[in-house]
Amino acid sequence: MKRNYEGCALCDATWGDYWRVVDGENMFFCCSICADAFENMVNEVKKVTGWDRIDEIKIEGNYYAGRDCFASSGNEYVNYFFRHEDGRITEFKIKEQGQFRNQPKDPRNR
Ligand SMILES: [Zn+2]
Repeated sequence: MKRNYEGCALCDATWGDYWRVVDGENMFFCCSICADAFENMVNEVKKVTGWDRIDEIKIEGNYYAGRDCFASSGNEYVNYFFRHEDGRITEFKIKEQGQFRNQPKDPRNR
């Protein structure tokens, strides 16, 4: 899963040393609460979209303001917002859901 943060997958903090396998990938988090929030958020995205894997997640925002995110899987994407409390998702809103415009290449043009 491609992510926009190099530190903690949820908040980008570089302190701490907490690892958890999410979606089959061992990811770095600053603490178990961030890991809970990230994992629950990933599960929520999968539930809402029906995706079985997520290619990319981009996160903006923080604990107090909530987080605006983008996720994609194959040709589909969602923009959404969420908040968490102690790692539990307290608010989750899909803002936009769609497909990328670049369709797969027509094999006849090869
Ligand atoms: Zn964190």
